Order: sequence, then structure tokens, then C-alpha cells
Amino acid sequence: MTSASSADLFTRAQKVIPSGVNSPVRAFGSVGGTPPFLTSAKGALLQDADGREYVDLVGSWGPMILGHAHEGVVEAVREAAGRGLSFGAPQPGEVTLAEEVISRIAPVEQLRLVNSGTEATMSALRVARAATSRDVIVKFAGCYHGHVDALLAEAGSGVATFAMPGSAGVTASTARDTVVLPYGDREAVTALFAERGSEIAAIITEAAPANMGVVTPPEADGIGFNRFLSQTAHANGALLISDEVLTGFRASREGYYGVDGPTGVAGADDAWAPDLMTFGKVIGGGLPVGAFGGRKDLMGLLAPAGPVYQAGTLSGNPLATAAGLATFAGLDEAAYETLGAASSTLQQLVADALTTAGVPHVIQSAGTLFSVFFREDPVTGYADAKAQDTAAFTRFFHAMLEAGVYLPPSAFEAWFVSTAHTPEVLDRIAAALPGAAKAAAS
Ligand code: PLP
Repeated sequence: MTSASSADLFTRAQKVIPSGVNSPVRAFGSVGGTPPFLTSAKGALLQDADGREYVDLVGSWGPMILGHAHEGVVEAVREAAGRGLSFGAPQPGEVTLAEEVISRIAPVEQLRLVNSGTEATMSALRVARAATSRDVIVKFAGCYHGHVDALLAEAGSGVATFAMPGSAGVTASTARDTVVLPYGDREAVTALFAERGSEIAAIITEAAPANMGVVTPPEADGIGFNRFLSQTAHANGALLISDEVLTGFRASREGYYGVDGPTGVAGADDAWAPDLMTFGKVIGGGLPVGAFGGRKDLMGLLAPAGPVYQAGTLSGNPLATAAGLATFAGLDEAAYETLGAASSTLQQLVADALTTAGVPHVIQSAGTLFSVFFREDPVTGYADAKAQDTAAFTRFFHAMLEAGVYLPPSAFEAWFVSTAHTPEVLDRIAAALPGAAKAAAS
């Protein structure tokens, strides 16, 4: 415990840590003010250094799907810690965690663990480029895949929050190998493949974009956007990488892949399947874990058997796998029902409050994942997401914070509920909403 206030800590932090934070969006740059420094969390509640309590709707940006300090997860980590913090050698938990993921996600035949979602997407790109002997990667504006050099162009999340086009420090040659297209634009995809199909190693997409706010992949002529991407990539000898770092095991038990209606397995005629998939957040239960996996022939390219080098001192760490496995143990059908109910109730509460106050808004969801846009019309891509009333969001955000509800400090992020968001917790959010909606309207 600390006796210093958040304000004092932020002042100290800004002297020794760039902008006082270890990940940009935490600095409250786009909403202003001092970020609460958090000292403890339990269930759906957070405690800050000033002794204030908040209902949490960030959930550490996704991992805390069972709520904070979940007894089963904490006990599993404690027990694992007693047996050693890191071995740098194979350990049983890695095998069980890979088996758990593979049992849920049909296209994943093999899986390798890394330490973050960024490492997962970076490694998947390397495999795709090696497998195809091609360089070009296609991504979509507003999709965030971590801070990989090749994937920072027009990324969502913090890059959107701070209205940055990309990042300084990315070389021109790296940027040249990434083509950014508008999300959902089939004509643009088709045209690009017609012109440069033989250069394209892979398309990478969020299974359902959630880093510009949540955008549901659009259907056209009975074909979903993910299936269209899979077909187009495969017709041109390229691969599809589906990034489920955020949606994985949250949008549904099988992630967004489970929502999108796959009926078959990789390679089956009637099914669409990504060639590679990336995961993070939920699979580590709050400890630093990411993973990438997919077709066995592609994963077989990894060293030591294959020519693609990829490694990690702490990859497959025993504490991390224990936390991930204990989280999966809590994620049964009943947990997804609880999560779905909390998500639907909260969406309705927010919609009612904003409607009553006359605040233009649209709420979009992908499975149990949702976000609130401060604009009237549906958001289909990054340009729409940017055309929202961020000033209204800022007023709403601060009024909610003042009333004890901790929202993502950005208009471009999903809201995260957990199985600990009980009706009593939702009542506390409901009590805060009318005032915040009024503030947004003012
Ligand atoms: N991919 C997606 C879809 C994400 O949402 C994120 C992080 O939010 C990442 C990749 C990067 O993960 P990490 O922050 O663990 O590096």
C-alpha cells in the first residue's frame, strides 16, 4: 500500500517514466486530468491511491474476464510460484494451455506461447512471409495489432486516441511493405489483389475490430467479411491472419471465430478458416501472455524444426500458464451466459441514459464485446469512428469517473465487463449514468 496520492505519484512518475506511464492511453492524454494510480482490485471493483473505489469497465483492457483477484486464479498463481518462477525449459502448463486453446478453436492445430499480443502478431507475420516468400502485408485502417513496426500505420487504440497517423521511428521500407485499406471495403481488397496479388504474403485483420470501438464485420451477398478475406487471400496464394488478441475467448467461448458461424475445420470446403491466429489478454488471465497458432504446416516452419526463428526467455512461463489455465477453468458456458447478460444489460442502461439526455450515440457489439460511439449513425470503419463527438465522450467519461465508474479513457476503445459484474455492480453503474449523460449533453 502507498500513502502517496495519485496526483503526487503522477508528478513523480512524469520525472522518471515518459509521460508518467508505461502504455500511452493510461496517461489520460485525450480526456485530460490525472489518472488514478490503482493500488488494489477485487471482482469488478478498483481501489486507487486516494482510497477511492471505482466500478471497473476496463478489466486491464481485456484479461480480467473473471474479475480481479479471482480466487481460483490467484491460488493457481500462488501454487505455481511456490514451485518456481521461471524455468526457461519445457513445463507441463504450456502443453495443457495449448491443448485448451486448440480444443476451442478449430483452425488452430498448433500453438506457440509468447509474452504479449504484439509478439504474437509480429511472429505470425514472420511465419506468413516465410511461408509465401512474399513481403507485403495488408491491414485495415483502425485495426490495432500491437506496436509492431509493420502494423502501426493507421492503427486504432492509442494511435487513434492520440490522432497519430502511425509512429515515428518506423523505416520507410517497413512502411512500404504494409498496405492499409479501409475496413470492410471489398472492392479495395479485390483491386489490390488484382494489381499486386503476387507480392502479398498475408492479410491481417482483427476478427472483429475493437480498437476503433467495436465494428461488426459486414456481410454482403451472404458472405461475411472474414470469409471474403479468406477466399480472396487463398485465391491469390496469400494467407489470412485473424487477430483475436482482444476478441479471443471474450466475444464467445471460441472468440469471434465462434460468432462468425464456422461449421467446419481448416481446409474444409464449406468453412472459412484463418491460416494463422493470434491471441493474448484472456489466455494469460492477467499475466503477460500472448500466443499464435494455426495450420500445422505453417507452424512447422518455426525453429528449431524450421527456418523461422522465434524465441523467448520467459515464453511459456509457469505462473503465466497457471493464470491462463485457471482463467479457462472459470470460463464455462455459464460464465459466458453471465458475461452476455451483463454486457446486454449495460448496453441497455447506457442507451436509455443517453437517449433520455438526448445524446446522439450508437452502441455496437461483437458477441459479448461492445462499445459506445458518440454519434448517430453506425460505424463501419475508421473514418466513421473518428467522426464522433469526442468532447461529449470526455464530459461523459469525467462525470462517470467522478461518480465512481472507471471507463476506458478514450472514445475508441471497447468497454470490458467481467463475470464479476453482478446485478448489484450494474446498479452502481446505472446510478452514475443519468448524470454523466446529462454532462455529455451539456
Ligand atoms: N492485437 C489486438 C487486436 C489488440 O487489441 C492488442 C492490444 O490491445 C494487441 C494485438 C497487442 O497486444 P499487447 O498489448 O499484449 O501487445
